[in-house]
Amino acid sequence: MRTAVLLCVCGLTSLTAAPPQTGPGVGASLIQAIRSAGLDPAESYRVRDLTFSKEDLKIYLTEGLLIFSKPVNGERVSAVFSTEVEGGDGEVLLLPPYPGERQSLAKFAKSPNLDEHFRVALLLATDGSLQELFGRLSRGEEGRKVSEMGPLLAEEWGAALSNISSGFDLRIAQDLLTPPASRQGLRFAAIGGSKLGNFDLFYDAHAREQIVVGQLAEKQGAAKYNIWTSFPARNSRNGATAAPESPLAPQRFRIDAVLDANLGLNAKVRLSAKVGANPVRALPFEVSRAIRVTAARVDGVAAEIVSRESERATALHAGDNADFLVISPVELAAGSSHEIEFEEEGVVISSAGNDVYFVGARGNWYPRSGWGFATYDLTFRYPKRLTLVTPGDIAEDRVEGDSRITRRVAATPIRLAGFNLGDYEKIAGGTPGFRVEVYGNHRLESALQPKVQPVPPPLADPVPISAGRGGGRAGRGQMIPAIAAPTVAAPAVPDPVARLRAVATDVASAVQFYTGLFGPPAMPSLTVSPIPGSFGQGFPGLVYLSTLAYLDPSERPSSVRGPQEQVFFSDLMQAHEVAHQWWGNLVIPAGYQDEWLSEALASYSALLYLEKKKGAKAMEDVLADYRDALLRKNEDGITAESVGPITLGFRLESGSEEAFRDITYYKGAWVFHMLRRRMGDERFLKMLGELRKRYDSAPVSTAELRALVKQFLPPGVTAATIDSFFDTWVYSTGIPELKVNYTVKGIAPAVRISGTVEQSGVPDDFSIEAPVEIQFAKGSQIVWVETTNSGAVFNATLKQAPVKVSIPAGTGVLAARK
Ligand SMILES: [Zn+2]
Repeated sequence: MRTAVLLCVCGLTSLTAAPPQTGPGVGASLIQAIRSAGLDPAESYRVRDLTFSKEDLKIYLTEGLLIFSKPVNGERVSAVFSTEVEGGDGEVLLLPPYPGERQSLAKFAKSPNLDEHFRVALLLATDGSLQELFGRLSRGEEGRKVSEMGPLLAEEWGAALSNISSGFDLRIAQDLLTPPASRQGLRFAAIGGSKLGNFDLFYDAHAREQIVVGQLAEKQGAAKYNIWTSFPARNSRNGATAAPESPLAPQRFRIDAVLDANLGLNAKVRLSAKVGANPVRALPFEVSRAIRVTAARVDGVAAEIVSRESERATALHAGDNADFLVISPVELAAGSSHEIEFEEEGVVISSAGNDVYFVGARGNWYPRSGWGFATYDLTFRYPKRLTLVTPGDIAEDRVEGDSRITRRVAATPIRLAGFNLGDYEKIAGGTPGFRVEVYGNHRLESALQPKVQPVPPPLADPVPISAGRGGGRAGRGQMIPAIAAPTVAAPAVPDPVARLRAVATDVASAVQFYTGLFGPPAMPSLTVSPIPGSFGQGFPGLVYLSTLAYLDPSERPSSVRGPQEQVFFSDLMQAHEVAHQWWGNLVIPAGYQDEWLSEALASYSALLYLEKKKGAKAMEDVLADYRDALLRKNEDGITAESVGPITLGFRLESGSEEAFRDITYYKGAWVFHMLRRRMGDERFLKMLGELRKRYDSAPVSTAELRALVKQFLPPGVTAATIDSFFDTWVYSTGIPELKVNYTVKGIAPAVRISGTVEQSGVPDDFSIEAPVEIQFAKGSQIVWVETTNSGAVFNATLKQAPVKVSIPAGTGVLAARK
């Protein structure tokens, strides 16, 4: 799940409006008008010293020509500024307020601050600013009309501007259908820079981070969008403007779904929702691209659907979802409640063979607006040979003809509802007050069936194939074509439910363990079901586990039989996904910058469970593997960890997909492990319990976690220490190499130890608290030493002589081995 980030989608798009109506609806007409508006040659001006600035974002139209587009709904929403005049100039200035953002910008733009002159800027604004500028120019208060330049400018820039406008058509329509007083507008500029080429600037009042600079790029033949920097504008940072509110808060979903014989989905989705603080007419939704919404009604009255369909837009838009608008027949008052009904169809289930299915759209198979918590009442009608699972309690389960009908009700509000189906075997269990159901496939998916290997009959391969014939494989290959009908070796088929009972026991005991540590989970029940592939996913009340987790370790494919993979599929995966019942589904990340909290906490919870189950060594081995992965150099010759701070979230993927995983999951687990070491077990676990309690069904940010940690300080640790911990490990990058040297003088009971900690491999301002462990014949003691690149000194007086003094390898602090 990913917080939607506004991305520039420039492409040829075509409009679809449904349901079929007599004449286009207001939304379709508006979008048609946006697309066809074009530049207005009569409204061209020679301008000087204008600005298009907003808060931190400074855009100077110093000297040049400005041509406006024709009005849409009476408003000028776009324009082009060109510097093709004598002494022409435009400039953009932006100083990101955070070190991590300056670092990110520097990576793409070769400078931590943006200061770029440009030759052209294609401007778009739904906040009234261009209309206001047009007013001043057309009244002759500024600039000089140069209508004679109009046709030339329109010809040069018309197509490019229309391309840009088309990419924003839904957003422009949404804003233009919102009364100006309550409109949260967008400003956008596509810049043709003199040094940096083409890039985009956004100021979006809808977004938590209003200011975004980015660029459409290409990686391995595929279009991708690089975000150079993104941050909240000044008024948001200092609290002068409140966080943007979503226009619609979902409260209850009732979904009636039918899966036909081919498992095609047809559903009626009824959503009860409350309008936010502003009246609204155009309701924004998103849904999987595999789903087609064919009709919408608001309070029983047919409503227009406006969606965008374009291959290019699909390729360029982030995520698997498509946006669309429902245009309510009437404006919906602030704070009022409504029922919005959808009819939808699509194919979201694919077969992996042998009645093993892959549900592709797990969290986005029905339209969503925002990520608010809602209750669910879900009814599915489907082929009776299968079992379908969703979160919640079974309210109905019966067979009717060839169909089975299952209705489940999730009375506890949850973030989203997934479903899964198959020909299942089931084990039920749990503890008083908590029900656990674990489902496994009766049969094995095709990809896991052992490959039938043709083997030659004994006489056909008389010569030892490895001896002097250019390698065994080639030798064998040369012999086999002679064999017309090879006999077939049929290896034993792995049992797809070999570990069903083990998984069920493990899940139940993990739930119990976490409940004891953190308090109750998202829902009073948990259903676990298989998914083909090598991943898991933890939805509220429903966990998807890789089919590989159900196999006996000895029967897993050889590609995943290494020790790390075995621990992953046998121990960590279910513990991680179960932990998401708390982290991600109950306590939710406030934004993409905080997404690491869910993954890091789920990963570290899984390690706590592993430690309980198999001992500290098992946990430390995994942490050591994580450290090694973080220190591995990527194709650019830098370590995975140095791609960027953990708070960059999905933006780390511009480094590589592995960088995102390594940093979010592995470094994230280390961050919590180091916090635990610094705070002590008791305070650390109390802090997590408080996190669960304070942010029950609510968003939490990284800054809020830091503030919470400060309420659980052990003796000798100050708030400044915690700030420095977060600055170093969370908001920045770097893994040091540490080395301890020491000398011991005196005899018991007055032993003096003095030593140094040497640090290298990190920038000069890198400093951490490193745990130096002094081991005695019996027991040990930790001395925390603040490191610097110029070395740190420590001294201690001990009652007995130490046997070893070291920074515990792999367990105390994230550091490279030396
Ligand atoms: Zn996860």
